[in-house]
Amino acid sequence: MSGNDYISSPSKTKDIISRYGFSFKKSLGQNFLIDQNILDKIVDAAQLDTASGALEIGPGIGALTQRLAETAGAVTAVEIDRRLIPILKDLLADYPHVNIRNDDVLKVDLRQLFAEDFASVEKVSVVANLPYYVTTPILMKLLEEKLPLHNIVVMIQREVAERMAAAPGGKEYGSLSIAVQYYSEPELVCIVPKTVFIPQPNVESAVIRLKVRERPPVEVADEKHFFEVVQASFTQRRKTIANNLKSRFFPGEGRERLEALLAEAGIDGGRRGETLSIAEYARLSAVLLAAGIK
Ligand code: SAM
Repeated sequence: MSGNDYISSPSKTKDIISRYGFSFKKSLGQNFLIDQNILDKIVDAAQLDTASGALEIGPGIGALTQRLAETAGAVTAVEIDRRLIPILKDLLADYPHVNIRNDDVLKVDLRQLFAEDFASVEKVSVVANLPYYVTTPILMKLLEEKLPLHNIVVMIQREVAERMAAAPGGKEYGSLSIAVQYYSEPELVCIVPKTVFIPQPNVESAVIRLKVRERPPVEVADEKHFFEVVQASFTQRRKTIANNLKSRFFPGEGRERLEALLAEAGIDGGRRGETLSIAEYARLSAVLLAAGIK
């Protein structure tokens, strides 16, 4: 198919929108992609073949769905906006291996969806231009449910992508970086200008690839506790780790026990949360747990 025939060509997108009388809903994060090069980059980054399944979240009018259909063996697209379903079914009628579901991805039982839609493929990728108002909840749901995913390639706000991929020491590094890096290896694919969407969003975007880990990079006995220690350490970014941990885990107590436990974990309590690696947080959580601090 030539570039001008794709749903994503600017003229075709405008034509589809007026033909079906579609009006954009800002509240659903509807910014449609109209740039072939960016779509190529997204699809290439997902490394799909006919033995792959692709789960797309928020297909819109199908710009990316069509490209996925040409590469992957099975495509499921979950779209919350009921008005888009007949348009998608119409425009993608030539691709029988595309399954359109009208649902809120945050409410879908993804394990069941995988069993129903991806039984015939060897591996599954999530590939999406995500609605920005729910980027983090969607990605955390995908990662925390430990789905059998090969990778996740998504367009998100540039600032959020940079926070997800950040290393310790900088102002971008925080609990989101740690959560994402605990489950995956993030890699920035490209920065994307506002001009490749209609309507244009207010912020710059980026494509990020999360290579899902088979096992976490550190051993953690109690994940809930580990993430609570991380959250607590960033409660007030300008405070030291000792002060943040004290408010959360040792309220109304002296500092002696906390300082002894920090020393046991090999962590200087005068450091800030943003300087600790995932391995240091794992050690800290293990020492606190062993002392019965929850
Ligand atoms: N994939 C299309 C593209 O690239 O042109 C559209 C991307 S647009 C940024 C995001 C899409 O996600 C919209 O179609 C919107 O209706 C849909 N959406 C928003 N919230 C959703 C949710 N909770 N579950 C499923 N789809 C959602």
